[in-house]
Amino acid sequence: MITHRVDVAIVGAGPAGLLLSQMLDMSGITSVVVEKLGRSDVLTRNHPAMIEAASVQALRDAGIGERLSRDGYPQTGFEFAFSGRRHRIDLQRLAGKRMTLYSQADLTQDLVDARQKRAGTVFWEARNVQFDALETETPAVGFEMRDRAYRIDARFIVGCDGADSAARAAIPDDRLTLHTRDYPFAWMSVLAEVPPACEEFVYASHDDGLALCAMRSPTRARYYMQVNPNENLDAWPDRRVWDELVKRFGGHADRDLVRGPITDKSVTGFRSMVAEPMRYGSLFLAGDAAHTLPHTGAKGLNLAISDVWILHRALAAYFTSGSNALIDAYSETCLRRIWKAERFSWWMTWFTHAYPDFSSFDRNMQRAEFEYVIGSEAAATAIAENYAGLPIL
Ligand SMILES: Cc1cc2nc3c(=O)[nH]c(=O)nc-3n(C[C@H](O)[C@H](O)[C@H](O)COP(=O)(O)OP(=O)(O)OC[C@H]3O[C@@H](n4cnc5c(N)ncnc54)[C@H](O)[C@@H]3O)c2cc1C
Repeated sequence: MITHRVDVAIVGAGPAGLLLSQMLDMSGITSVVVEKLGRSDVLTRNHPAMIEAASVQALRDAGIGERLSRDGYPQTGFEFAFSGRRHRIDLQRLAGKRMTLYSQADLTQDLVDARQKRAGTVFWEARNVQFDALETETPAVGFEMRDRAYRIDARFIVGCDGADSAARAAIPDDRLTLHTRDYPFAWMSVLAEVPPACEEFVYASHDDGLALCAMRSPTRARYYMQVNPNENLDAWPDRRVWDELVKRFGGHADRDLVRGPITDKSVTGFRSMVAEPMRYGSLFLAGDAAHTLPHTGAKGLNLAISDVWILHRALAAYFTSGSNALIDAYSETCLRRIWKAERFSWWMTWFTHAYPDFSSFDRNMQRAEFEYVIGSEAAATAIAENYAGLPIL
């Protein structure tokens, strides 16, 4: 058995785990990250992420802003298209903020590089991760790597291991409440080697379901389309994908959709989930391990960043002055913001998607909402401030 001792053992090398480890390191707190995948396998999430200004600042403060500032695309607004009309939500004017469009794979690469530069330890390809003595002040994480057994003794463990979190599963059922909502559809995501049809995100609501144009770069387009949760991708040859996108945008894009080679096609389900509380003894949960939401509001990564910003600050207070106040308040502090983001994502999903059980009444409710947003500065401002990101604290 190979043993290590650190202040904080982090499980999961996604954005939450890597960023937390970087922030702790900069505050002189020792940590290791334990990841079940290989180093290159964590870079496969290559969807574009809308990053809030507060998240960009948190990344910069952690020394991770350089490539993001250079290669990220500033986004000052996005649009809704509904019943033959388009309406732009001007984030800059209404909320005084802009967002940054950046690939999540590039962000993860930046985080991996930053950890490597500071000689941070990440145990890649760790199998069979186990948790021990979580309710005590001497918890541990055990795992196997290349046929050897490892044990990490720490003061705290942080579960940053995503939606199917093993850390969350290690909490006794009677100490955790899961609030969930499933949606009767999923998103088909399509990456194509063509110029995108829109300069900004356009959420086009159609009777057959949402289509979303998300620019990836001037020469690469990422489109999303609402589909059935169990959609078979074999039934979607490229020609059908393009026909469906053209129909759903219905002339609402900035320019005609350019058809071309589709290099990536996948289907992701939607689920809203909040785990409450986000702490059990010496274990904290952060990021998707603690909450998931539909991608409609572009909030998952941003919440992961705000969770670890709040947790890093709390752990720094604990290790530098022995104060428990912020770690004791961690769950409540995060959940206040998380529930607001859950509400916004749930609302954006309701507003822009076609639900299978919708009646003409429901569709007219969406239409009325759209009319309200077009006609009311207050309604548009409320959307803008939620989309651009509420303050972290
Ligand atoms: C199509 C799409 C578009 C999106 N767009 C946006 C957007 O515009 N803006 C936004 O804010 N968010 C967006 N998101 C959400 C965002 O990708 C996630 O919220 C974010 O990745 C969460 O980061 P995380 O580190 O908490 O979890 P993850 O990224 O899931 O990382 C978890 C890590 O833990 C590892 N792991 C899992 N189990 C174990 C185990 N047992 N032992 C060890 N390691 C383990 C995993 O391999 C993984 O590396 C989008 C998501 C999708 C799918």
